[in-house]
Amino acid sequence: MSTEIVDSACLTGLLADKFSHLWDLVGNTPMLELHYRYKGRPGKLYVKCEHYNLTGSIKDRMALNILFEAYRSCAIKPGDTIVEATSGNTGIAFAAIGRALGHPVKIIMPDWLSKERFDIIQSMGAEVVRVSRQEGGFLGSIRLCEALAANGGVFLPRQFENGGNQEAHAKTTGAEIWGQLSQQGLIPDAFVAGVGTGGTVMGVGHCLRMYHPAVKVHPLEPAESPTLTTGHKVGSHRIQGISDEFIPAIVKLDELDEVVQANDGDSIIMAQKLASELGLAVGISSGANVIGAIKLREKMGEEAIVVTILADSNKKYLSTDLVKEEPVRDSYISTDTVFTDYTSIARLNR
Ligand code: PMP
Repeated sequence: MSTEIVDSACLTGLLADKFSHLWDLVGNTPMLELHYRYKGRPGKLYVKCEHYNLTGSIKDRMALNILFEAYRSCAIKPGDTIVEATSGNTGIAFAAIGRALGHPVKIIMPDWLSKERFDIIQSMGAEVVRVSRQEGGFLGSIRLCEALAANGGVFLPRQFENGGNQEAHAKTTGAEIWGQLSQQGLIPDAFVAGVGTGGTVMGVGHCLRMYHPAVKVHPLEPAESPTLTTGHKVGSHRIQGISDEFIPAIVKLDELDEVVQANDGDSIIMAQKLASELGLAVGISSGANVIGAIKLREKMGEEAIVVTILADSNKKYLSTDLVKEEPVRDSYISTDTVFTDYTSIARLNR
């Protein structure tokens, strides 16, 4: 994304240059054509490798765009503390980019998330506040952010409602998916992505539909905690980064195709297989997304071009069930899947 056309009293000279350097480190990720056999039949699907971003997750795009737009609209001042509630990757992204821009960063997180997330955020000089289930969990974390902002000197990105979140994915993730597939003479038939804030599915969906209105855009949720389907928090699940207890304001279900579900155990085994069979060491939500993509291809037919996201790497899950033996269940997609190969699709020239 270019920062060349900047017309703002708050985003000048060195700061504008700094954003332009940061954009060199965020986005323009590789795409892979994954080859697999499902129930013995060959299949292929397309995945965007978001673990290639600056801090190793898709959330860098959103964090950088929100801070860029905040400077452009003078909503943030140098020295303001960036305060955000997050289930992990957002905190890591704001810590890295916030510190690179010289801001203090305070991250409010539910205390049950993986230890790696806390350690990585703190290693970048950000402060972490942990919120227990009794103190309100994720929703309690969001309330605490708002309370901290009351004293001033604070910038709240508000990722769950900030339009700059989905805009980042429309301008970058979606545009890249369209561009990379076009280079191969391909047009996507469907896109599926697990919903945390919903920025990815809404933004990519918006962009792809501008080019190809018939494309299907599917949100994905954990089968054990179907918040999108029920409208409220229900059950619990192990796919960190998606289904954060409520339907975010960004998510407009009436603009999306039907919700796809993935079991958390199935997602863990799928992520383990991506690593052990192809060397693609990705996180649990990536396994969930691949399950969603295989399900859609089964439904849409073998000619369907289905695209999804590898949202982050497995490094933040080394203390979780991702590195343990996961019990197999009959209904799982992963146990009928064998990955055979992948080919890469060139990155775009920027
Ligand atoms: N996977 C992981 C690992 C994440 O951290 C997130 C963001 N919380 C998502 C998927 C979902 O992305 P989005 O917030 O854009 O819906």
